[in-house]
Amino acid sequence: MTESERAPIPGYLYCPRCGQQDSPRGAPEGCSRCGEPLSYEPPPQGAPAAVVGAQDWPYTALLPPVPPVTLGEGRTPLVPSRCIGPQLGLDLWFKVEGANPTGSFKDRGASVLVSVLRAMNVSAVADDSSGNAGAALAAYAARAGLRARLFVPEHASPRKLAQIGAYGAELTTVPGPRSRCEEAVRKACRDDPALVYASHNTSPYFIEGLTTLAYELLEGIPELGPEWHVVLPVGGGGLLLGLARGFSRMGRAGASPRLHMAQPAACAPLAKALLRGATSPEAVEPLATLAEGASIPKPHRGRQVLAAARASGGSAVAISEESIQRAQEKLAREEGILIEPTSALAPAALSPLMADGAVPAGAHVVAVLTGTGLKAL
Ligand SMILES: [Zn+2]
Repeated sequence: MTESERAPIPGYLYCPRCGQQDSPRGAPEGCSRCGEPLSYEPPPQGAPAAVVGAQDWPYTALLPPVPPVTLGEGRTPLVPSRCIGPQLGLDLWFKVEGANPTGSFKDRGASVLVSVLRAMNVSAVADDSSGNAGAALAAYAARAGLRARLFVPEHASPRKLAQIGAYGAELTTVPGPRSRCEEAVRKACRDDPALVYASHNTSPYFIEGLTTLAYELLEGIPELGPEWHVVLPVGGGGLLLGLARGFSRMGRAGASPRLHMAQPAACAPLAKALLRGATSPEAVEPLATLAEGASIPKPHRGRQVLAAARASGGSAVAISEESIQRAQEKLAREEGILIEPTSALAPAALSPLMADGAVPAGAHVVAVLTGTGLKAL
């Protein structure tokens, strides 16, 4: 299907770097002028979408006005810390995103992305992910009746591949470095005109879905503002961008909570850049890490993520493998919450952020626990 055959949706796409506006038809990977991944702006007063089935999105007026493909994602538990918060002297809350339908926050993004592509009459989607994003896209494609192809590196975890395959997605293993998977998706899309690159890294609609985490936090904590701190694992940084956009859209642009990024020391291009005052990601040579979901050496939206974290007054830390493992165990044994190692970056970041003075003693903090530990056992 050529781009002109796709149905347009209301709203517009724009480039956060150069301001160029693009048609919301199709799934462009970046700005036609400078290549930067695009943002989506819904129509001023998003009309309520036509409801398909019994369920609707809870924040439908803030999302692209298309019929939703939903599995009841979001509405995840906000749980006070029993142990770590009191030990550190923090008012600490956990947002338990592992409670989403496929086990991670990526379901928020996949729900909106797949809904938009279906509304554009797309019938088949492709992405490169061996982890949570792949599972989320496969599940929502199945729900929407779309064909899904996932390109994964050959060293991907068999358990995560099994989850993606269980939703009926076609898996293609790609030898060599991670970047080869992206090249393989692009080639497959060129060879099969029905196939659309539904990239969780560059799609503006995926980010739109992630804004719902900000709306939910504001609903759960009405006083959430600049006195509050949100600590989250960062790989590509989509979740941080989604939070920043969500808070901004709710009129909290100048009164957002501080967004602190936690990256594995083994691969910390954004944390290093933020701490050095740089505006684009540092060049890094990634090492092996337990936090595989946050091992993104060249984040596509790196400049945007750094600008958003900085605008919120947030800081960054790079976490050792030992701290990741310790935090994961502590969450399970002392808080009763089983999380994957990537999610453990958030609680592991609390002590270093306090030591740096970024989070003061007695502060109000939300740690986002991005994914379940069930896939990592
Ligand atoms: Zn541009």
